[in-house]
Amino acid sequence: MFREVVLGLGGNSMVEGVVKRYGMQMGAARFVAGDTLPEAIERIREINGHGVKVTLDHLGESVRTTDEAVDAKESYLAMLDAIHQAGVDANVSLKLTQMGLALDHALGQRHLHEIVARAAEYDNFVRIDMEDTPYTDATLALLEEAYGAYPGHVGVVLQAYLYRTMEDLKKLSDPPKNFRIVKGAYREPVSVAFPAKSDVDENYVRLVEESLRLGNYTCIATHDEQIIGRVLKYIHDQGIERDRFEFQMLYGIRFSLLESLAKEGYRTRVYVPYGKDWYAYYVRRIAERPANMLFFARALIDRG
Ligand SMILES: Cc1cc2nc3c(=O)[nH]c(=O)nc-3n(C[C@H](O)[C@H](O)[C@H](O)COP(=O)(O)OP(=O)(O)OC[C@H]3O[C@@H](n4cnc5c(N)ncnc54)[C@H](O)[C@@H]3O)c2cc1C
Repeated sequence: MFREVVLGLGGNSMVEGVVKRYGMQMGAARFVAGDTLPEAIERIREINGHGVKVTLDHLGESVRTTDEAVDAKESYLAMLDAIHQAGVDANVSLKLTQMGLALDHALGQRHLHEIVARAAEYDNFVRIDMEDTPYTDATLALLEEAYGAYPGHVGVVLQAYLYRTMEDLKKLSDPPKNFRIVKGAYREPVSVAFPAKSDVDENYVRLVEESLRLGNYTCIATHDEQIIGRVLKYIHDQGIERDRFEFQMLYGIRFSLLESLAKEGYRTRVYVPYGKDWYAYYVRRIAERPANMLFFARALIDRG
């Protein structure tokens, strides 16, 4: 309920104005690694120093013009170049609406291909984030296409809150691929997504187990300690090798838990967003946790 309300309010232009004005001082900075690429590269270096890899995201989604989509694509090419030049351990995560998918399917497709081709040159990897359900089919189709051209250099995100995801996973796993499995962060109707958190959590564990069973490289992207414990038990019981999966968390959330997994010898990765277009990302982080909203509200009142 809290989640629905916050995601709904996030679309309100008055709320957007206030949050954009005060958000950075009032919590957003916790989730964003800086404004510029050089700042983000420095942050990656620090994180790598803790034995943790990174996936780098240049914030932005749903661009309004072709020029914005071209700029976003160029920024991703520059990120791959900078990661290569700096010699840091990071790949990239992108959103197809930022690449222009919602404006023109062919534009989004071309941009994705260019970026994955550059990643392949550096033997690096592109993760396609999953957005809301109007884009699910197109995202999975573009993943299959890019995978056909550059296998091993591109993967996608699957969301446990969608009823369809188990079927998608099974269809996409031949041949096995690289999936990040998440609970899902958008506002979706009950016609397509489990409304109860307990059902999402159960589906999450089922999807991770099935993904591993089908031979996919599986990224377990959650901060949920109980789920991580259940997944670790499955991994140990099945004798799954540690190079078949990794744990992922978002920048600013439960880093000590991720670090302790790294110290135990598991592969780990932080999702590091940077850039000025942090509003939609921040609203989703608030929606995930009432305490984040209280922190923001208190800071807003203190200013007054
Ligand atoms: C690496 C990564 C990539 C992601 N990519 C996508 C994507 O492409 N598409 C998509 O729809 N979603 C994505 N998500 C978001 C995901 O769908 C969830 O919304 C988010 O991870 C919260 O769910 P949870 O699994 O941590 O479980 P929850 O049950 O929500 O949280 C478990 C615990 O984690 C902590 N926690 C969770 N969220 C927060 C927060 N915002 N602030 C502080 N503490 C928190 C709390 O202690 C909470 O009790 C991604 C998440 C990760 C970790």
